Amino acid sequence: MANRTAHPHESWLPEANTATTDFPLTHLPYGAFEHEGQQHLCVAIGSHLLDLHACAASGLLPPTLVEACQAPTLNALMSLGHRSWTLLRETLTTLLHAKADPAKRQAAEAALHSIAGATLAKPIHVPNYTDFYASIHHATRVGQLFRPDQPLLPNYRHIPIGYHGRASSIIPSGTPITRPSGQSRPTDLTAKPNFHPTNALDYELELALYVGQPSLLGSPIPIGAAAHHLFGISLLNDWSARDIQSWEYQPLGPFLAKNFATTVSPWVTPMAALEPFHAPAFHRDSTDPKPLPYLHSISDQKHGSLDVKLEVFLSTKATSANKLQPYLLSNSNAQDLYWTPAQLIAHHTSNGCNLQVGDLLATGTISGPAESSAGCLLELTRNGTQPILLPTGESRTFLEDGDEIILRGSCEAPNHPRIGLGECRATILPAHT
Ligand code: MN
Repeated sequence: MANRTAHPHESWLPEANTATTDFPLTHLPYGAFEHEGQQHLCVAIGSHLLDLHACAASGLLPPTLVEACQAPTLNALMSLGHRSWTLLRETLTTLLHAKADPAKRQAAEAALHSIAGATLAKPIHVPNYTDFYASIHHATRVGQLFRPDQPLLPNYRHIPIGYHGRASSIIPSGTPITRPSGQSRPTDLTAKPNFHPTNALDYELELALYVGQPSLLGSPIPIGAAAHHLFGISLLNDWSARDIQSWEYQPLGPFLAKNFATTVSPWVTPMAALEPFHAPAFHRDSTDPKPLPYLHSISDQKHGSLDVKLEVFLSTKATSANKLQPYLLSNSNAQDLYWTPAQLIAHHTSNGCNLQVGDLLATGTISGPAESSAGCLLELTRNGTQPILLPTGESRTFLEDGDEIILRGSCEAPNHPRIGLGECRATILPAHT
C-alpha cells in the first residue's frame, strides 16, 4: 500500500473514511468532553475525538491558537475570528490526513479518545438565546389548529417571527428532562385553571445557529455580511409543554412552557464544513411578497439556505425492553424554512440589537410540506386528538415518562463525503412531587 495515492479526503483513521460515518475528515465538528476534572475542547473524527487541549500541549497547533484551544469552551476561539478558524481547521485537516507527517501523527494518536467512552459537554457558553418561527409549514399547521379561518397571521411572510428564550436552561444531549409542572386551564373553558405536571409534553425539531462574531449595539448587520457572523450549527430540541403554553402565551408569547429545558447536540458543525450543502432560499409563491430590501440579497437567495436532512425518533420503555429500534416519528429538511440564517441575523440586528459571541439563534420547529414531515407532536397528533400508534402496540399523543426523543441530521451532496450532525437526545423523567 506504500505507493498508493491517498484520496483528497482520506484520513489515517480508517473509520473516518467509511460511507456511513457522521464524522469524515471534511467535517471536523467541534465539541467538549470531561477530562480528568477539566473540560477539554475536541473535534470528532470517525468514532474518535481528538483532544485539542492535548494537541496544543504537544506543540501540534500554531502558537496563536494554543490559549483558545486550551479554554473550556469555544468562545475564545470564536472571538479570534475567521482567519483563526480557518488556520485551525487547516492544521487539523493536515494532521489527520492520510499523508500526515509520521511524527505528528504519532503525537495526535496519543490525543485520541473513543467518543463512546467519553462524557461530552456543552462546548459553547451561550450568553443569549433567541428562538425563531421560520418554518411556514409549521406555522400554518399550528395556526390551522387554533385559527382555522386564518391559519397564517398577516405578518408571517413579511417578518421573521421570534422571541427571546432563556440561556440558563440550555443543556447538553443526554441530560434527562424532568417533566415540568405549571398552570393550565382544562379544555372545558368554564373550568378554573390549576397547577399540575404537564399533560402535553412535546419536542420541537430545530437547528441551533451559533454566532461566532459579535456586532456593536446600534449597528445593524447588513444581509450581505450576516452569514459571516455565523460560526456553526447543531441540532436543538425546544421542549414545550403545550397545555401550559396555550394558557400563558397571550399576550406576550411563550414563557414557562418552554424555558424549563432546551437540549443541544454536542457537536458544532463549522460553517466551513457546510459549504457544499448550501441551497437556494425558500421558493416563494408568485403571490407572496418579496422580502423587504434589508432582508434581500441575490447571493443569499441563490444559496443562503442549508440542505440538512432531519429525523426525529422515539424510544419508549417498551421499545428498549423489546430491543426494538427507535421509532421514526418524522423527517424534514432545513431547506423547508421560509427564512435563511442570514435573514434571521439581519432581522435580529435591524433595530440595532447587538449579537454576542456564543449567542444561539434557533430556527424554530422545522416542518416540511408533508404531514409526515411535521417537527413536533402538536402537529403530528393535531394537538393530541389523533394518537400515533407505535409498533409496540402503545400509542402517543404527547410524551410519557421514560420516553426518549432522538434528533438526527445529515448532509449529502454529489462528490462530497456525507456528514452527520450526530445526535441530540434526552429521556423524560417523572415530575417532582
Ligand atoms: Mn421552538
